[in-house]
Amino acid sequence: MITDFSRNQDLLYRSLRSVWHPCTQMKHHEQLPLVPVARGDGVWLIDFDGKRYLDAISSWWVNLFGHANPRINAALIDQLGKLEHVMLAGFTHEPVVQLSERLSVLTGLSHCFFASDGASAIEIALKMSFHYWKNVGQPRKTGFISLKNGYHGETLGALSVTDVPLFRNIYATLLGQSTQLPSPDWRNAGPGESAEDMALRSAGALETYLAERHAQTAALIVEPLVQAAGAMAMHHPRFLQEARALCNRYGVHLIADEIAVGFGRTGSFLACEQAGIRSDILCLSKGITGGYLPLSVTMTSEEIYRAFYDDEMTRGFLHSHSYTGNALACRAALAVLDIFEQDDVIVANRVKSAQISALCKKIVRHPLVRAFRNTGMIWAFDVETQDALFPRKFYGAALERGLLLRPLGNTVYFMPPYVIEEEQMNMLVDGTCGILDSLA
Ligand SMILES: *Cc1c(COP(=O)(O)O)cnc(C)c1O
Repeated sequence: MITDFSRNQDLLYRSLRSVWHPCTQMKHHEQLPLVPVARGDGVWLIDFDGKRYLDAISSWWVNLFGHANPRINAALIDQLGKLEHVMLAGFTHEPVVQLSERLSVLTGLSHCFFASDGASAIEIALKMSFHYWKNVGQPRKTGFISLKNGYHGETLGALSVTDVPLFRNIYATLLGQSTQLPSPDWRNAGPGESAEDMALRSAGALETYLAERHAQTAALIVEPLVQAAGAMAMHHPRFLQEARALCNRYGVHLIADEIAVGFGRTGSFLACEQAGIRSDILCLSKGITGGYLPLSVTMTSEEIYRAFYDDEMTRGFLHSHSYTGNALACRAALAVLDIFEQDDVIVANRVKSAQISALCKKIVRHPLVRAFRNTGMIWAFDVETQDALFPRKFYGAALERGLLLRPLGNTVYFMPPYVIEEEQMNMLVDGTCGILDSLA
């Protein structure tokens, strides 16, 4: 008889023999066991022994309404009976049309170009901006600007505007040229400088750059409000207002990478709303299907779309992916938008955000904690430690307490599914304090 214990062990062994896991030095798994997941239920991931882990980082920031959500499940089961997929060149279907219409209303951008992951959405955004300037007779505008400590994905194009040395350095010679300007991260503020002052200082550097180089610059790409993979660095919305004004003044596209921060994560549906601005190009993914299926979208203004509309084939945007606009993924996304409407999620999350922030007072007071920060449904703090193994030790200690937490360097963050309830919030905060005490 195969016991549940041996099913856990069996899966770990077979996974290490045949699966190359992402973002991992596989040799570390000689010490650190993989976590087998038999099923999910709301905020919980459950192994074959019935041990439960609170998914406090929403499975890499994708899950919004819990695992095995009955409403998303029902939508997908219905869609499976109708159409799983059809190529989107020359064909169309109800879920992709409905989703495009609804995203257009929510974002104020006219057209949706679909792909399957965030990095592909970034590739599309960069190619579109570059191609737009050629189509309108400004072929010298080819350069891209991004922010220091920014992350936009790990395919070669996306990596060329990413500034996370751990992911980038090895491949540097393969990457296209781009320029990184100072991040508005408020932790960079000098003595007596506020977060808003820091935002203005960073915008000042952008202005200096654009004044000189705008004729060679296609676009600025930013992660609005939170540089997520860059250790949850947060900035004042004033930066986005200034960046919008500068991009207008100098004729440069503003690309908003809301792959991590969109879908309500920062407290508004889009992070850009908090600055009262709209980007020219918008990338969405991660939360778009509630963590169910891979889907991403690059949205553009009517003006950009029009510049490709022509009798000439090569003035069109010929980029393609096999699974673009997948019907099942679009249907999951529609179910996610239904939940946003039916449950008034943005408003409900304000209450949850305040509840978690109140509990976090215990964390703020902890002697090892620095630079505690919160934007909407993201909380982060830096831990005072010299231990290079801190992230893995913290991760292991959290798993022992039934928490899935995966620090970025010495930054611990919470990005829970929106369905988290009070008892689970308590478990998360108390468990985190317990781990910090054990390290002190
Ligand atoms: C995760 C992420 C990406 C890349 O998305 P993938 O689906 O992992 O390729 C790009 N930009 C931001 C801001 C992200 O957080």
